[in-house]
Amino acid sequence: MKFDVMTLFPDLVAGVLGESILGRAQKNGILTVTCHNIRDYSEKKHKNVDDTPYGGGMGMVMAAPPICACYDAIAQSFAEGERTRVIYMSPKGRMLTQKVARELLEYDRLVILCGHYEGVDQRAVDRIVDEEISIGDYVLTGGELPACILIDSVARMLDGVLSSPECYEGESIASGLLEYPQYTRPVEFEGVPVPTVLLSGNHAEIDKWRLERSLELTRERRPELYEAYMLAYPPKEPRKKRK
Ligand code: SAM
Repeated sequence: MKFDVMTLFPDLVAGVLGESILGRAQKNGILTVTCHNIRDYSEKKHKNVDDTPYGGGMGMVMAAPPICACYDAIAQSFAEGERTRVIYMSPKGRMLTQKVARELLEYDRLVILCGHYEGVDQRAVDRIVDEEISIGDYVLTGGELPACILIDSVARMLDGVLSSPECYEGESIASGLLEYPQYTRPVEFEGVPVPTVLLSGNHAEIDKWRLERSLELTRERRPELYEAYMLAYPPKEPRKKRK
């Protein structure tokens, strides 16, 4: 899958996504992340990309011409039949959830616009953007970290990025519940032992213990998820994790 990021801070995005699992996945050719510096498309003498807002007000607005020129250059490399989607990271957008990330897997190529300052001239949004996506009800200084979060949430579900789909299907949210607590060596840490059932080798008992902890945690922290899970899997039926 291809990701094109339109940004004023390409090193920020490349740095975050170049590490760890996604860095390795890029080296293995499972995904490509290409960062495009919007400033390179400015026709202004000093390569300015922003200006004061019409109507007055605080801050600066990213101007439409370099953004649209940057997009046009990317669009020239779209292949015949390539399924593309242009996303503007924005606190005004649809909330990013696991379901939204899964939907975005349907595309071959995502082009992601990162805003900065007070945001982006609406005419650029209207011309190039298919959808605005928010990573949460708070405001950050720029769209680069939101873009990295979006890419990570989608890319980790690509074949070959994690060792198997079970790695993400059984996790918090994707499974319909919050995940049970995890433990690793040593068997005792600062006087606190690992729950004995996890050492028993009895996989039916381990699954039962994990499901009970998941249900407890979800009921306590995310009652709305718990309700939905209980509606889907009433207690009289054998409880299974939702795929
Ligand atoms: N003035 C804008 C508003 O009130 O909606 C906020 C602009 S914000 C300071 C600058 C940029 O950061 C935005 O254009 C967007 O790209 C990004 N950003 C900030 N918060 C975000 C969020 N919750 N989700 C996605 N992107 C966000």
